[in-house]
Amino acid sequence: MHKNAPSYFSNLKCRECGRLYPKQAIHVCDFDFGPLEAAYDYDAIKAALNREVIESRPKSMWRYRELLPIDGEPTVGTQVGFTPLVKADRLAEKLGIKALYIKNDTVNYPTLSFKDRVVSVALSRAKELGFTTVACASTGNLANSVAANAAAAGLKSYVLIPADLEQGKVLGSLVYGTNVIGIHGAYDQVNRLCSEIAGKYGWGFVNVNLRPYYAEGSKSMGFEIMEQLGWRIPRHTVVPMASGSLLTKIHKSYGEFTKVGIVDDAPFSIHGAQATGCAPISHAMKKGTDIVKPVPKPDTIAKSLAIGTPADGYYAIHVMRQTGGFAEDVTDDEIVEGIKLLAEYAGIFAETAGGVTVACAKKLIESGKIPRDEEAVLCITGHGLKTQEAIQGKCGELRLIKPSLREFEEKVYAPDQAATAASPSPQ
Ligand SMILES: *Cc1c(COP(=O)(O)O)cnc(C)c1O
Ligand SMILES: [Zn+2]
Repeated sequence: MHKNAPSYFSNLKCRECGRLYPKQAIHVCDFDFGPLEAAYDYDAIKAALNREVIESRPKSMWRYRELLPIDGEPTVGTQVGFTPLVKADRLAEKLGIKALYIKNDTVNYPTLSFKDRVVSVALSRAKELGFTTVACASTGNLANSVAANAAAAGLKSYVLIPADLEQGKVLGSLVYGTNVIGIHGAYDQVNRLCSEIAGKYGWGFVNVNLRPYYAEGSKSMGFEIMEQLGWRIPRHTVVPMASGSLLTKIHKSYGEFTKVGIVDDAPFSIHGAQATGCAPISHAMKKGTDIVKPVPKPDTIAKSLAIGTPADGYYAIHVMRQTGGFAEDVTDDEIVEGIKLLAEYAGIFAETAGGVTVACAKKLIESGKIPRDEEAVLCITGHGLKTQEAIQGKCGELRLIKPSLREFEEKVYAPDQAATAASPSPQ
């Protein structure tokens, strides 16, 4: 692709009334306050994009360039994405389902969470729009990714977070030399302050005034899932929800690949996962309403998902309903159990949000909402090394011995045990 490769990204468009807006740093409709979303020329994309074209490109999220909202070449996070889709047979057997896949964004580049996808798009667009200072309101992972990608791109950055985040998340922002601001308050208060700052100083807030661009980055997780499954839509997808944006964008990605003829239309269900200590979307779903009641004081170890007033909650509910999906939520103990299941049966160390997703999937399978003879993809969105506090002291103990064979045999592996164990015979 070249600098002047055609852009298929035409406008911003109100999700409520459909009014079109120019592609600026704006995010709400003047008439009804509906969220603005990127719109594309799908007929032109259909003519330009196909499986072979995509397969010929480098393995990053930018291989789906035509369906991402920037004008020129990406300039930030060009190597983000194309994380592994792992077929997790042992975990499938443990949970009692025919087939299970883990979309493993714990190893996303460069900051080990799916947020690198949204930041890559938001900052590439921020540069096109001429911003030199970028910022965000974050529950942790977004802060890490803005800090890292802004540092690499030479942009000034401010990241605002609730003051009580995990050490790994705080340090994982500070290391990049950014301005890390801890707010005494919950995420919603951080977010409100950011809206005021964005209005006053004209910085590029990735999830405020640049939100339409930011949000589109999440689609790449869905595009990759379809490609890695052999160009098809999975029957079930389980997605963790904070604002609910990732869930709605995975839905959009499935629809777009169908619309431009890259995959065949097929039935699918998208399910949402939250922590019971902050489950405004799941609770609304279970009550059968689309009115999301705010949670003023989130209380869960899944801090990355602790958004009490989820911006896309209403739309997430409609996606779940429309696709025959369900929402679940799980306690802190279940989250820890979910983290351990994923580690012990798939060899993947996820953060608390991953524990939420696995534990909710387990519940959905047990209740028959995901039938045992079907397949599911679990979106695992962040790395466990960032939330070590959550499992500290809950994973067994280190066994300490002196550097002596006798002590090893006394305390770890007894000789009589060794004699009866099936030892591999030399060939
Ligand atoms: C931000 C985040 C999510 C989901 O965020 P949405 O606001 O719902 O898009 C999921 N998992 C992790 C680890 C996150 O950091
Ligand atoms: Zn509108």
